[in-house]
Amino acid sequence: MLQIPFFLNIRILIKQLYDSAHVTKKIAVKSTTFRNDQHFKKSRQSETCGGEETMTDCIFCKIVNGEIPAHKIYESEHVLAFLDIEPLSRGHCLIIPKQHAEKLHHVTDESALREILVVAKKIAHALKVENYNILQNNGRPAHQFVPHVHFHLIPKINDEGLGLIWKANKVSQDELAQVATEIKENLS
Ligand code: 5GP
Ligand code: ZN
Repeated sequence: MLQIPFFLNIRILIKQLYDSAHVTKKIAVKSTTFRNDQHFKKSRQSETCGGEETMTDCIFCKIVNGEIPAHKIYESEHVLAFLDIEPLSRGHCLIIPKQHAEKLHHVTDESALREILVVAKKIAHALKVENYNILQNNGRPAHQFVPHVHFHLIPKINDEGLGLIWKANKVSQDELAQVATEIKENLS
């Protein structure tokens, strides 16, 4: 029988180990790239989306314009509602003003804002849910990932739905009064 020298055996073994490690690395890199792509897309949107009417780069503007598909459930002149692509629970949907604005206080179309709550109520009825959250995040530290104003309607179904960490502070009546005065003085 042909004898393979010991050092050759070792070299083959090392190559096999290297190849299998390399394949694993390639798979790992592929999935990271996919995740990074999404994060990149999201962070790029954060950088480029401001308070303009429509943004060619904005994923929700693309849904409004029909450039990318979504399961639309309500549409009017100023408002659109569609199912969230990664729902926290069955029926989790997003209600948005069609006007592009990154944050709530950037929205100039106030009739759209008024309509959104009415639409949320209608959808809650349509879903026949008794328990649900309306969530609206502004800014990345406040968990906003898509920089086009959106209101989540998230049905609470048993364990499914929105989880909250609510770190309440104990403050004095004086502090509360001070904050209330400050807000009232600055309300326009
Ligand atoms: P945020 O954290 O910004 O308040 O939530 C953004 C939501 O938009 C997330 O729940 C996410 O699943 C949803 N979303 C992101 N991209 C898309 C998309 O392309 N289509 C739909 N239908 N929902 C999306
Ligand atoms: Zn937009």
